[in-house]
Amino acid sequence: MIHIRGAVLDRIGSPRPYARSQPISVVDLDLDPPGNDEVLVRIEAAGVCHSDLSVVDGNRVRPVPMLLGHEAAGIVEAVGDRAGDLAVGQRVVLVFLPRCGHCTACATEGLTPCEPGSAANGAGTLLGGGIRLARNGNRVYHHLGVSGFATHAVVNRASAVPVPDDVPPHVAALLGCAVLTGGGAVLNVGNPQPGQSVAVVGLGGVGMAAVLTALTYDGVRVVGVDRLPEKLAAARALGAHETYTPEQAADGGIKAAVVVEAVGHPAALQSAIGLTAPGGRTITVGLPPPDARITLSPLGFVAEGRSLIGSYLGSAVPSRDIPRFVALWRSGRLPVESLVSSTIRLDDINTAMDHLADGTAVRQLITF
Ligand SMILES: [Zn+2]
Ligand SMILES: [Zn+2]
Repeated sequence: MIHIRGAVLDRIGSPRPYARSQPISVVDLDLDPPGNDEVLVRIEAAGVCHSDLSVVDGNRVRPVPMLLGHEAAGIVEAVGDRAGDLAVGQRVVLVFLPRCGHCTACATEGLTPCEPGSAANGAGTLLGGGIRLARNGNRVYHHLGVSGFATHAVVNRASAVPVPDDVPPHVAALLGCAVLTGGGAVLNVGNPQPGQSVAVVGLGGVGMAAVLTALTYDGVRVVGVDRLPEKLAAARALGAHETYTPEQAADGGIKAAVVVEAVGHPAALQSAIGLTAPGGRTITVGLPPPDARITLSPLGFVAEGRSLIGSYLGSAVPSRDIPRFVALWRSGRLPVESLVSSTIRLDDINTAMDHLADGTAVRQLITF
């Protein structure tokens, strides 16, 4: 067993500002050694993502106490008996949906989330059911098989994808969620053709990663849509060709063949559908509360040949797709580091959740 420090959520639904209510505490914990199929990773960097906030505010119901963080990268420090293809000293990207490789969903090559992986995530365990975290002898649940807001993590082998040493920690961390989710939606589902437009609704870390990935396609016009003018300016700085508020985009009759919705709010999905050109695809990657609803005209889908596609984790197979994103990053066409809006300390986590809830941050990165 080793002693670690990590950010534990004890209460769901605390009032804002979180800087005052302090729902997350940075505490000492005990971490068991990795099981047969598991690895111990020293965390180098972790991004603060909406799926962490969704546990804090109760939009995603998870067991507590839970050690948060699901977008992280680090160095392998120990490997279990059946995880020996990873070497000590290897840098790995941690991914928030392990794929067992055996279930019906895993046979869909990324289109459907792995069933045992999803069940483990819902239960707050590692793939296989293990819990390796404890505080004062009491169990602490894992967040999406990663729990990366900590000095160290034990994860299932299927939650770790090795990357070459030249991929720095801050880039590696963002590959695990923002880039796989937003970029994967463009790469695996959108697949825009020259002369087409890609519009991205919601310019947080995931949306901006979709913008960056769309910009790697030659002859494709990239449109950013967000409520906040500062987000629109940030998207233009990354290279987006046009940016609009949702109202401006609707009033201007903007239409795109591929529209990615990365907010997780029904109003955003509604405007994404409105921005989709006849024959186009609306791809939704945001995670709204379970009771969220939208109103649709079915005729528009039939008569204009549209489709609406849900994409979890960018419909990615992480072991297949992370090397594709590494290659794009290495060629200089996918500047992942430009998604990092600030670098913070683990102790700043409650304030970071406020910034995220306010929509003022693209990606806040915790370094260790
Ligand atoms: Zn995330
Ligand atoms: Zn599976």
